[in-house]
This record gives sequence, C-alpha cells and structure tokens, in this order.
Amino acid sequence: MERLAINGGSPVRTTPFSVWPVFGEEEELYILDVVRSGKWGGTNRNKLPVFEEKFAAMHGAKHAVSVTNGTIGLTVALQAAGVKPGDEVIMPPYTFIATASAALLFGAIPVFVDVEPDTLLLDLDKVEAAITPRTKAIIAVHIAGAPVNMTGLNEIAAKHGLRVIEDAAQGVGAAWDGRPVGALGDFGSFSFQSGKNVTAGEGGIILTNDEELADIAWSLANVGRIRQGAWYQHERIGWNLRMTEFQAAILLAQLTRYDEQLQRRDRNAKLLTGLISEIGGFRTLKLDSRTTQHAHHLYMFGLTSEAADTIGKADFIRKVNAEGIPLLPGYVSLNRNRAVVAEIEKWTGEKRETSCPVSERFDEREGLWLHQNVLLGTEQDMHDIAQALGKVMNSYG
Ligand SMILES: *Cc1c(COP(=O)(O)O)cnc(C)c1O
Repeated sequence: MERLAINGGSPVRTTPFSVWPVFGEEEELYILDVVRSGKWGGTNRNKLPVFEEKFAAMHGAKHAVSVTNGTIGLTVALQAAGVKPGDEVIMPPYTFIATASAALLFGAIPVFVDVEPDTLLLDLDKVEAAITPRTKAIIAVHIAGAPVNMTGLNEIAAKHGLRVIEDAAQGVGAAWDGRPVGALGDFGSFSFQSGKNVTAGEGGIILTNDEELADIAWSLANVGRIRQGAWYQHERIGWNLRMTEFQAAILLAQLTRYDEQLQRRDRNAKLLTGLISEIGGFRTLKLDSRTTQHAHHLYMFGLTSEAADTIGKADFIRKVNAEGIPLLPGYVSLNRNRAVVAEIEKWTGEKRETSCPVSERFDEREGLWLHQNVLLGTEQDMHDIAQALGKVMNSYG
C-alpha cells in the first residue's frame, strides 16, 4: 500500500516546510528606528549607507548603489557599462526572465548561449562563437547560487573587449576561487525580492570596484544628478530608482542571520544530494572544484535522461507534490519564451530562432527544483524529500 498517496492516499509528508521570510526582533526594532527618525529615504539616508557599505564589504566590492529591485539593478549596470540600444548582450537562457528583460528594457538585445549540462551555468566553450561586432557585454548568471567560472569568463571578455555583468540575484554569499561573487566583473547585481535569500520584500543593489562606473550607476538611479551637484542639476537622463530606508532596515536585520542560514542550507543541500544520489533515476548537479561557496537559492537537480524519456516530468512532479513535497518544474528556457522572442523581433526586426538544447531539455524534460526555504529545515525534512522522491520514482516500476 506504499503507493496510496500517488492515488490519493496518505502522503509521506503532511507538515509544512520552513516558512520564508524568517524575521525577528531585529526587523521590528530597525523598522521602528526608521519610522521615528523621520528619515524615510530619498536623500534622507541613515540606514541605507550602512547597508550599502556592509553588503559591499561582504562581497569584496568598493562601491554599492542600492536600487528598487534586481531587474533595475541589471538594467542600470548594463547602461552604466556603456551598453546601448541595439547592442548585443550574451546571456544564458536558463535564468529568470529579468536577465533578458533588463536588457530589452532599453533595446539591448539578448543573445542566448546554452548552459553546461552538468552545472546549468553558461557554457564558456560556446561564448566566443556568439560574439559579433555588436556584442558589448556578457551577463554571468550565478543560477541557483552556483558561481560561474569567472576566471574563464573574464579572460574571454578581456580578449574581446567586452563588459561583464554578474546577475547575482541568487548569489548572496556565493564565492568563486576564494572570492565572493558580485565584484568579479564590471558590475554585480543582487535582488532582495520576497523569495530571495536576503529579502526586504523588494529591493536591489549593484556592486563594482570601478569608481567611475559606480558614479554613472548612481547618477542613472538618481534622476541624472551627480554626487556633488546641485539638486536640480541633471547631467544625464536618469530616473528615480532608489530603495527606501525601510528596506535598508529590514535588510540590515536580515544580514544578522545570513551566515547561520547559509551554513544550514549548505549542510542540508549536501545531505539531500547524498540521499538523492542513492535513489537512481536522478542526476545531481556538479560544481567546479574552484567553487568556494554555493549560495543555495534553489536546489536544482534532474531526472536522468533515461528516466525523463520513460516517465513524464509533469506527471512526476504532480505525484511528488501529492506526497507533500513542494517540488517545482523551474524556468521556461528564455530562447523559447514567446514574449522574449517577440520583444527581440520588435527591436531588431528579425525573428531570431536560437537553439539551446541543454537548457530546453532541462526545462521541458529533466529539471526539478526545490526552493531555498526548504533547505532551512531539519535533516528529517531532507529524508522526507528523499523518501517521497524514491517512492514516486519506484512507483513507475
Ligand atoms: C530575482 C531575479 C532577478 C530580478 O530581481 P527582481 O528583484 O525580482 O527584479 C534577476 N535575475 C535573477 C536570476 C533572479 O533570480
């Protein structure tokens, strides 16, 4: 009767997993501080500079510009780095749509280069073939929190005179070869949207070690002002893209728990990988040996290609969900997203069909996800997940 849940009987798990966001007294105290201070944002900044400095230091960056969200962070970084309408930006297709829409927001054109099958990160061996005279930048997405090989990517970019933007929305605390991500290229962009590992409901920040780039980014996010200029002195067209003091308060409180949470996610992810490896029918993702720290925003794994060909991904997920496990199907590969393709056509006048078989296959047939909050639970939670995965997998006989 082991299969009862699959047919509607008793599931492996009936209790909920860890709730996100996690918060406590710190959030309440800091928020109250802001309310009572009367400094709520704009140029009335109290907590924002403290947060910007802390977050930059945490990621080995000299400069930080806080912004409304991660999408805006990417678009400001691209524009500050000199990317213009019509320029091409190389990026992976296996990412949140914002990586592409941040470029398309001002008419820069995403060029999708497939990901590696073992890591789901941008395949550096395929980047050079995609470079054209219009290419201006490459976006490295630290997807799920796994750092891209920034050593290799920076070499390619330097050889071709391209800018490198890190989409580190999922990468708070991730590190490549001993160095935190976020300031390993020209800019790094982070998101504090409600599901992210550090959150204020919404928010974003961009980091850089280049003072000139930081000043341009600041100006773009501050209605075209310059740092030492007069209030109505607008030197370029920029927008009000600022974060508030309320968000900075929440974020400062969130940071007090970050290390402990990262370690817990790390321990549980490793445990889960061990358990899943024993089941059969699944593949866990690999990490380059130079990965110092995975940030674990998502736990991504997949059905093996044999399993995917015999059992349907959607059916499998439905049955695991019925066991009380919040397993997710993940992204639609952006090169196959109709809105993205239509927007590229709008700007270029061309229908650009890109084939990214690895990303497409992970999207359509193999890829499975768990969200970071699940990794904040107990060891028993990981055993429950593995038990449910095994039970459903074995039910296919
Ligand atoms: C969340 C996310 C973004 C966008 O951030 P928002 O704050 O939601 O605008 C961009 N890229 C990736 C990879 C993300 O996960």
